[in-house]
Amino acid sequence: MKNDKIIKPRLIIHGGAGKLEGTSDRQEQINRSLKTVCQSSYLTLIEQGARESVLHAIRSLEDDSLFNAGTGSRLQADGEIRMSSSIMDSSTGIFSAVINVQNIRHPIDIADMLSREKHTVLAGKVATDFCRNRGVDYHDPITELRLAEYERQIKGSHGTVGAVALDKSGTIVSGSSTGGIGYEIPGRVSDTATVAGNYSSSVAGASCTGIGEEIVNDAVAAGVVIRVENGMSIHEAVQNTIEKAKKSQKRYGLIALDCNSNIGYGFATEGMYYAYHDGNGITSFIDEMEFK
Ligand code: ASP
Repeated sequence: MKNDKIIKPRLIIHGGAGKLEGTSDRQEQINRSLKTVCQSSYLTLIEQGARESVLHAIRSLEDDSLFNAGTGSRLQADGEIRMSSSIMDSSTGIFSAVINVQNIRHPIDIADMLSREKHTVLAGKVATDFCRNRGVDYHDPITELRLAEYERQIKGSHGTVGAVALDKSGTIVSGSSTGGIGYEIPGRVSDTATVAGNYSSSVAGASCTGIGEEIVNDAVAAGVVIRVENGMSIHEAVQNTIEKAKKSQKRYGLIALDCNSNIGYGFATEGMYYAYHDGNGITSFIDEMEFK
């Protein structure tokens, strides 16, 4: 029988959960930037599909120093920046990731590159060597703001970026990228490059942000997707997860969507920057706050 279900493409992106840092001016800038990226990534979704859309969204956010991913990543306790990123694609079922890579511009591109290798997750110095061997240029992601935060030993939990997209063929792709939580033990591995922080199947996809250890302990992204596979709505699966997190005082948030074009998001933190395109236009965190 011919399956003539028309799938409505959807995209949701986030710019991190946690304490809303900085002035309202900075928050407004973050919101504007997310909306711009959401718009251009939605066009990419329509023209080139879910994978390209997620890659475009995350690359753009990695280039924007407002976010703690790529350029503008936080420094670890030894003064080094180590970045992690992952992508998962329902059309192949492959999760690929890079952990604690250094001095490159787009960690998401390395996660993407690894999806075509036999071994799909690489970490540490050899991950950086892998990039150089593949001709990836040296790039210094440090910014004055992050250096100043490091000097004041600021530990944060906000700024990681993520995206989840559904295209007209029904493919769901999720991606995440982070500079970590700031001033952490050198070499710490967060949730971002694990299936607890980023997971997709043909039924749903999710990307998380917040305290990585807590996200890993709750297996958040994979947990949400599996709940939806077992018949829960995306809304219930997200709310359920967030309610549990609040009860146990965990600090994280997530974005998600399902194969029926339903969007879900929630956070157990003070806030979470997100923006989504539902086919008619963009809705963002700050717009919704003003609305309430
Ligand atoms: N999850 C990231 C980490 O633990 C940080 C974040 O999402 O803000 O490194």
